[in-house]
Amino acid sequence: MKDDFTIKGEVITALEEVEDPQEGKNIVDSHMVEKLEVNKGVVDLVLVMEAGRDRKERFAIEDEVYDAVEAIGGVREVKVKTMTPKALEREAQGKAPTPKRSAGAGASPSAAKKGGGRGPQQGSMPASAPIEGVGKVIAVASGKGGVGKSTVAVNLALALKEAGHRVGLLDVDIYGPSLPTLLGVDERPAVSNRRILPIEAAGLKIMSLGFLMDEDSPVIWRGPIVTGIIRQFLRDVDWSGHDYLIVDMPPGTGDAQLALAQTVPVDGALIVTTPSDLALLDAARGLQMFKTLNVDVKGIVTNMAKFIVPSTKEEFFIFGNPEQVAKEAKRLETPILGEIPIDTRVRRGGDEGKPVVIGEPDSDVAQAFRDLAEALMEAEPADEQSGEDAEPKKGLFSFLKS
Ligand code: ADP
Repeated sequence: MKDDFTIKGEVITALEEVEDPQEGKNIVDSHMVEKLEVNKGVVDLVLVMEAGRDRKERFAIEDEVYDAVEAIGGVREVKVKTMTPKALEREAQGKAPTPKRSAGAGASPSAAKKGGGRGPQQGSMPASAPIEGVGKVIAVASGKGGVGKSTVAVNLALALKEAGHRVGLLDVDIYGPSLPTLLGVDERPAVSNRRILPIEAAGLKIMSLGFLMDEDSPVIWRGPIVTGIIRQFLRDVDWSGHDYLIVDMPPGTGDAQLALAQTVPVDGALIVTTPSDLALLDAARGLQMFKTLNVDVKGIVTNMAKFIVPSTKEEFFIFGNPEQVAKEAKRLETPILGEIPIDTRVRRGGDEGKPVVIGEPDSDVAQAFRDLAEALMEAEPADEQSGEDAEPKKGLFSFLKS
């Protein structure tokens, strides 16, 4: 096992290979690397770039840094935070935006972390930048696996498409990238002009970890790369021309949530849960994490709580207690945006690559997905603030990676 000190040396050597095009020298020599810490294989880096620096150039440098450091043996995780000199100075002062004071000598740039300041830091570079040409980015998440998150993501995407929107669907669920199965797709995405082209299926543009990795590859291997993959899938895939990009997240509260929120401004999240006690508890945790990340949680989607008798439309709550879900939602100050009944046709549709919204369009459950799409469109209209002229979206704050 390599020790942290050795890793640190190798990280510096690797960073010396990353060029700062503006200075014409490597980023170590151009003093762009402000902080480098290695703790049990986790590499923490702070880069400093002027606020006016071209966004693409900044992304390219960050990507190169991630690639170079991730390739080093013994590195378990790489965290890169990019700051403007001004923001760094403010952090050194102990976070408060008091630009008139100058930084005390020797102040630690990580001091702000302990200060716990949350919220946009004026002058600091937004940690995330919108994906060009994409309207709304919506994360579909859950506290635990098996609650129907992917099923909701794909059917929601199809219902949004049916409502006349252009919809992209990105599946970054490392524990079970199920999109290829759910939509019956068995091909690999093409690359054009160094951009990955999403695959077209059922009128959606889709991209999934499942296209790139072997089903049998162990999750333990997938975990550490999820951060890099999410960044790549958001930046290097051509998502232009979409009203909604639905992102099927891995369950739980981990690096994927952070990576997503740090890479693009997320307009909203949906938390899918079954009404059982345990799932609810996990859902509450997931919800809390998004709130901490300043992502607007648009609502909870309860799945498989009730059964609707096809002939009489009578509803039976077969497990869990709807009142308990309502109470929990109230406690979390989050609305219940959709209620999807349990229906064997959902499972069958998933197995056969024809999700129920298109496979059984007249079913009650397909209608429930349409109602969910309706509620989302109302909560997060597609045409609002999309496109190039839009106001900058609310970004996520780089302090989270410190
Ligand atoms: P997750 O993404 O949360 O792991 P999945 O979407 O893969 O969960 O769903 C888990 C299983 O439950 C799948 O077999 C799916 O077909 C089934 N399922 C999901 N929602 C429903 C539903 N409303 N009715 C019946 N089966 C469902």
